Amino acid sequence: MAQYDYDLITIGAGSGGVRASRMSASFGAKVAVAEERELGGTCVNVGCIPKKLLVYASHYGEDFDDLPGYGWTVGQRSFDWAKLIENKNKEILRLNGIYRKILADAGVTLLEGHAEVIDAHTVAVDGKRITAKYILVAVGGWPAVPKFSGSEYAITSNEAFYLPSLPARVIVVGGGYIGVEFAGIFHGLGAHTTQLYRGELFLRGFDDDIRKTLADEMRKRGVDLRFMSDISKIEKSGAVLKATLTDGITLEADQILYATGRGSKTPDIGLEKAGVKLKDNGAVVVDEYSKSTVDSIYAIGDCTDRMMLTPVAIAEGMALANTLFNNQPTMPCYLNVPTAVFSTPSCGTVGLTEAEAIERGHQVDIYRSTFKPLKHTLTGRDERTMMKLVVDQTTDKVLGCHMVGADAGEITQGFAVALNCGATKAQFDMTIGIHPSAAEEFVTMRTKVAV
Ligand SMILES: Cc1cc2nc3c(=O)[nH]c(=O)nc-3n(C[C@H](O)[C@H](O)[C@H](O)COP(=O)(O)OP(=O)(O)OC[C@H]3O[C@@H](n4cnc5c(N)ncnc54)[C@H](O)[C@@H]3O)c2cc1C
Repeated sequence: MAQYDYDLITIGAGSGGVRASRMSASFGAKVAVAEERELGGTCVNVGCIPKKLLVYASHYGEDFDDLPGYGWTVGQRSFDWAKLIENKNKEILRLNGIYRKILADAGVTLLEGHAEVIDAHTVAVDGKRITAKYILVAVGGWPAVPKFSGSEYAITSNEAFYLPSLPARVIVVGGGYIGVEFAGIFHGLGAHTTQLYRGELFLRGFDDDIRKTLADEMRKRGVDLRFMSDISKIEKSGAVLKATLTDGITLEADQILYATGRGSKTPDIGLEKAGVKLKDNGAVVVDEYSKSTVDSIYAIGDCTDRMMLTPVAIAEGMALANTLFNNQPTMPCYLNVPTAVFSTPSCGTVGLTEAEAIERGHQVDIYRSTFKPLKHTLTGRDERTMMKLVVDQTTDKVLGCHMVGADAGEITQGFAVALNCGATKAQFDMTIGIHPSAAEEFVTMRTKVAV
């Protein structure tokens, strides 16, 4: 008789948990996954996918504005938020179904309910105990709103995806990528949008040229960006929210969205009692193979606070399945992880920022190009695209590619491959461009800018 009910029990059927579970099953393991909400986790339900759909929706407004330059005339336009949310919800339901099928087809047992870790080999799902040789914690994260007077009136990204109507005035608090993206969404859909960030410039950790260019572009579009600014209290009068800022200014809004950070969904699921060490922020402490401080308990994805991105959670899940059930101990690779910000306009980035490269002791050459995109020569829109390369002077290797402009995410993906292959600036230069495109700028920049 088997010693355990399963080889692996995964807690959380999100991006990482589903990938780890189905790959483990494909290697012959007997796997169960516990999920207390909707299948697919944050990315599918209240993250990447619905966000990108809303970003698409928000772009139509300016696309309509741009049409006359191309000879088009459109009739009266109107926007129906309820319709957008209904269609988005339908698509998410479809994706939930796909995830259910993926698990079933892989032979993974789905246990729907709240899971808690009882000990090194036991998990309780809605109180029912199940044992496994290994437990995988893939519980993801949850948005956190700081506590202050009136903070209960603020919403997070979770609620923003299900608002009954488009607010006429929105304040977005937070300078991370989620805040920036929602500011673009609400502004693009027609809401008067103010974004507050308590630091000097948003998108901390991104290249400074991305941060500055995006701030300029958002301001040109009419987003009321306020840096070194935060809310000290919120009062509610009828349906109107009054935010008092730290500098004493008051702003009225119909919704106030906090995108100031996400915490790990690890508290109160028995991890510490089972001997799993957590960081101060609740993230599970893991080694390079995603093993926690308990030999049979592993953790991947957002709840480990490594890189909170879907493809990273998936890569960690894949590596773990190989390690545990495919005789191939695999450390997830975090080299040159590309990422996009689906702001308006969008940003794409891979590799080192200029500041990081210098901090790591590289002597760098910087190539930067700022130009009016071809499309806007006829629309008259005052938009600039910024593209930048950070190059190591000694080895000629390209250390970083950074961009603000249309399709930045699409363009950056390919350059991530080049960086992972160790491409040099000379190899970029010998690559023929695609003309006319913005992407060709990455292989045609020849003039160094002063560092
Ligand atoms: C608004 C927003 C936009 C984003 N946009 C992007 C983007 O554009 N690109 C990108 O790469 N990333 C994006 N992300 C991040 C991305 O969604 C996460 O990095 C990714 O979902 C992490 O996957 P995960 O498997 O770690 O956790 P999750 O996908 O969060 O899955 C965790 C699952 O565990 C379940 N769970 C938790 N506790 C328990 C329990 N005790 N019992 C049973 N089940 C439990 C949860 O219900 C959830 O389904 C975005 C996130 C947000 C919030």
